[in-house]
Amino acid sequence: METIIGIDLGTTNSLCSVFQDGKPVLIPNPHGSMLTPSVVAILDDGRVVVGQAARELQVTRPEAAVACFKRWMGTDHKVSLQGKSFTPVELSSFVLKALKEDAEAFLKKPIEAAVITVPAYFNDHQRKATKQAGEMAGLKVRRIINEPTAAALTYGFHDRNAEKMILVVDLGGGTFDVTLMEIFEGTLEIVSTAGESMLGGEDFTDRIVATVLKKEGLALEVAEVRSPLRVSRLRQECELAKRGLATESTVRIRLPDDHGTYDESRAVKLDRAAFAKIVEPLMERIKRPITRAMQDGQREAKEIDEVILVGGATRMSVMQECVQQIFGKQGLIKYNPDEVVALGAAVQAALILDHADVREMVMTDVCPFTLGISIAKEFGTRIESGYFNPIIHRNTTIPVSREEVVCTLIDNQPEIIVKVYQGEARKVVDNVFLGELQVKDIPRQPAGAEIMIRFTYDLNGLLEVEAYVPSSNRKFSTVLTNHAATLSKFELEQAIRNLQRLKFYPRDDLENQRLLRYAERMVGEVNRFQREQLEYAVDRFLNAMVDSERESFASARQDLLITLEQLGISYDGQSEDEKP
Ligand code: ADP
Ligand code: MG
Repeated sequence: METIIGIDLGTTNSLCSVFQDGKPVLIPNPHGSMLTPSVVAILDDGRVVVGQAARELQVTRPEAAVACFKRWMGTDHKVSLQGKSFTPVELSSFVLKALKEDAEAFLKKPIEAAVITVPAYFNDHQRKATKQAGEMAGLKVRRIINEPTAAALTYGFHDRNAEKMILVVDLGGGTFDVTLMEIFEGTLEIVSTAGESMLGGEDFTDRIVATVLKKEGLALEVAEVRSPLRVSRLRQECELAKRGLATESTVRIRLPDDHGTYDESRAVKLDRAAFAKIVEPLMERIKRPITRAMQDGQREAKEIDEVILVGGATRMSVMQECVQQIFGKQGLIKYNPDEVVALGAAVQAALILDHADVREMVMTDVCPFTLGISIAKEFGTRIESGYFNPIIHRNTTIPVSREEVVCTLIDNQPEIIVKVYQGEARKVVDNVFLGELQVKDIPRQPAGAEIMIRFTYDLNGLLEVEAYVPSSNRKFSTVLTNHAATLSKFELEQAIRNLQRLKFYPRDDLENQRLLRYAERMVGEVNRFQREQLEYAVDRFLNAMVDSERESFASARQDLLITLEQLGISYDGQSEDEKP
């Protein structure tokens, strides 16, 4: 039987899952961890590493690694690493390729298909870009589903026979999504969804970093250029502080100098109240999509049976207080918030494969935003263009197909350019331009000739636009003129060929790469007496990695681990995220 894996391609972490033995399960990476940091690095020898090892490098060598590239999906942004330029689609494909290999090692067979999750608020470009990243990684993307929908699927799968109204609040590293869902008799109905694609836990960290730097008389943007090492170290400290505040009332932030070195005497304190004050503007933005999802779903706070918290950043106390304040009840975390999206992707995969265990389940989703075209409006004798005419309204159940009639404006008008937009604003300039469709050879006739425009929004959240000219009986159908960020078939093939030339760091050896990078970072953290001892062990390990004489390698590795232990540095093969 065909296997479809589920993938949560996150801003910060990515996960991979599969439906097995009647339930969704997660697939570990070579380090035994379920979370693979969405970080890509290029080693000095040009090889690509993904995940934990790349994240270690990011701290000590910010110029060799990149994270948070999901934020640039669907844009023309390029990232330069070790002199090579990469698109966000390529970087995402590296992460997907790593996850695919993990799944193959876990399931002991080749994997060719996946369900990939995206933030509900991802627009058409971002969805297409994600799909292409999958294809570049050698995966057929069977379905793109919204992250909050996937999270809801996990809860719905385990709670199939309940009857309740659930609000899923998902604050990840870089995106925020809210989804209202109703469960009854095995049917999971997404009622409405809202969110912001540029708001996430990383912004909370950034606010701390900016505040600390400001106290030192530095602006974040300036510091990033002038001393990137200092900022990358400080960001790491602030990230720990933010997490610490989830369980503690006060945390300490050590202040690195320009070389990224800490001096134990230089530190500042941050307590929950001060943190809440710093992030107040962000919390205001958090409230808006919650209100919108409730309004669109025509529900009131008291009608919500459960508020489910998803995404690592909902662990922040400010988020829990916010939920308490609005709904008068505690947010629920029944399943690990880092994992529910990936698990839901595996449930979706099971639905596609019509697995016996999900046969009685039905799921319906909605279109998260309004889709429409640009039209001209008449004001007396004046005609003004640039107005947005919705065709599919937000929160319409998908798949959906809607038709709208437009008319020619002048006599003998030979063509119409249908400009397609996504968004909620009255004027198209304030919405996202998705592309255009040229309708040509309209027969000569007086103004007011009718043309039917049909929008079809499929289960993947991808839009198809069609125009029909009754007077000529001709049909014009998409594909929307390509946006720069999405590639044509030819360009995609070209890109795949280019990627095949890249060398990836061998999967089996990733754990050693990570240990090396971790130990290298620790060299800068220990005192100068310990430093010599640690450096010696690191050098020996590095030499052994290059020589790779089996026995000497094993003993060098062992030596390094022992040295770390002697110095009181814990290295447990687990990622930072999984430490309680
Ligand atoms: P994504 O799906 O975007 O990759 P995740 O759901 O993995 O994101 O969440 C990552 C975010 O959660 C990061 O911004 C991280 O700092 C934050 N986070 C993780 N654990 C905690 C915690 N204990 N307290 C506060 N924030 C946390
Ligand atoms: Mg996520």
